[in-house]
Amino acid sequence: MESSVGHNCGLFGIYNVPDASAKTFLGLFALQHRGQESAGIVTSDGKKVRSKKGMGLVTEVFQKADLEELPGHIAIGHVRYSTTGSSRVVNIQPLVVDYSQGLMAVAHNGNLVNARTLRDEYEAFGSIFQTSTDSEVIVHLMAYPEHAGRKDCLGHCLRLIKGAYSFLFMTRDSLIGARDPQGFRPLVLGRITTPGQLGSIGEGYVLASETCALDQVGARLVREVEPGEIVTINSEGVHSEYFVPPKESKPAHCIFEHVYFSRPDSMVFGDNVHAVRIRLGAQLAIEQPAAADVVFSVPDSGNSAALGFARQSGIPLDYGFIRNHYVGRSFIKPNQLERETVVDMKINPVRSVIEGKRVVVVEDSLVRGTTFRKQAKILRQAGAREVHLRISCPPIRHGCFYGIDFPDPANLAVNAYKDVEGVRDFLGIDSLGYLSVEGLKKAVSKPGDAYCTACWTGKYPVAPTDHMDKFGMEKC
Ligand code: 5GP
Ligand code: MG
Repeated sequence: MESSVGHNCGLFGIYNVPDASAKTFLGLFALQHRGQESAGIVTSDGKKVRSKKGMGLVTEVFQKADLEELPGHIAIGHVRYSTTGSSRVVNIQPLVVDYSQGLMAVAHNGNLVNARTLRDEYEAFGSIFQTSTDSEVIVHLMAYPEHAGRKDCLGHCLRLIKGAYSFLFMTRDSLIGARDPQGFRPLVLGRITTPGQLGSIGEGYVLASETCALDQVGARLVREVEPGEIVTINSEGVHSEYFVPPKESKPAHCIFEHVYFSRPDSMVFGDNVHAVRIRLGAQLAIEQPAAADVVFSVPDSGNSAALGFARQSGIPLDYGFIRNHYVGRSFIKPNQLERETVVDMKINPVRSVIEGKRVVVVEDSLVRGTTFRKQAKILRQAGAREVHLRISCPPIRHGCFYGIDFPDPANLAVNAYKDVEGVRDFLGIDSLGYLSVEGLKKAVSKPGDAYCTACWTGKYPVAPTDHMDKFGMEKC
């Protein structure tokens, strides 16, 4: 199973609208930042289930005619994040299966930490796996005869899997969302006014990774799907049940969703992402001040934090880098050479802002450090007198087992170059400052222990049993 290592992805599902595939297309389009490798939509008209999936961006996979060939009032869709070694058509989600209980489509965001063990176990029972994704495990658990017959089949099977998952399921006549007991990844429920197909419930419903997708289709946020909760939407309305009681679930929301992954216009874990990033930037200015003439961001991911830094420090905010929006996220290209080329294509300095100035640049995170090393050179060439870099999260030292695609910990900048001073030297800049873990927690509204900070602290809320060897945890 070469791709058992995680992927953060985007999910969108809709129930009781006449044009479910078109709405899902729009929803996925709004979630494109969560995954650019592949996209898929599965629809149901109550009788027939249809699907279309492909490699590439949502707009590359789906043309108008494709959406017309996906009729139905229920749909789920998925955008998948790139991970090396797993770019295979068979892995594109949603997965569609026909098992003893009927047709079912599944879309997953997150990463299961015991998928390898469960896969071995169910293969020994005779299960034949079709893909190399961790996500497929849930299907085999549900199809296993002893489980399939249970009234609480889904909840029972969810209790058997460990790790990070927001799931969408679609059957011929229902839409279901579920979230792991830690609530690692976001998932929200929305409502949409629609002429509908099923007059009895009058309204349509949406389940999505982020609220920006609700906005895109004109839906209103109702609430989050809670950690440990299954929300079932069918002709009787919305039904909620907990497979792990709220008292027993221990939230560990991924703060990296706020730092980098989610869109600033979304509400995630009860906070607006932009507002959190402004607070991260302000806290950064308190903890890691810089004597500089101008502050600007590495766009777009550093924009909100740079605003917070400027407001707090009183240093004027400007636009020192202009980003070309026709280039995708730089991580899309798997090899190092291509990645560096894309960075050049993406960012260009504004000389008039930089020349002769002491600049403080705010970036959301450093992973390998390669992106900013190049940008530091670009800033020098544009005449910067001093370059100070401020990072709106702590040094990333540990692998993520819950869906963020960080490299082997040995390649993370602060490990590869020993310490913060080593990274500063590698980047070739005048100063480097990171936000503290305490500072990070101050910027979010829930208590600090309700978030996962494993990539900074090495404290893993769910033991990543199957992955011990792969990431060599002793190195962390
Ligand atoms: P580095 O060059 O240090 O490896 O990467 C840092 C850059 O990648 C920053 O601009 C940051 O915003 C971005 N970044 C951080 N995490 C991720 C991620 O998971 N995926 C992608 N595509 N970019 C990321
Ligand atoms: Mg960035």
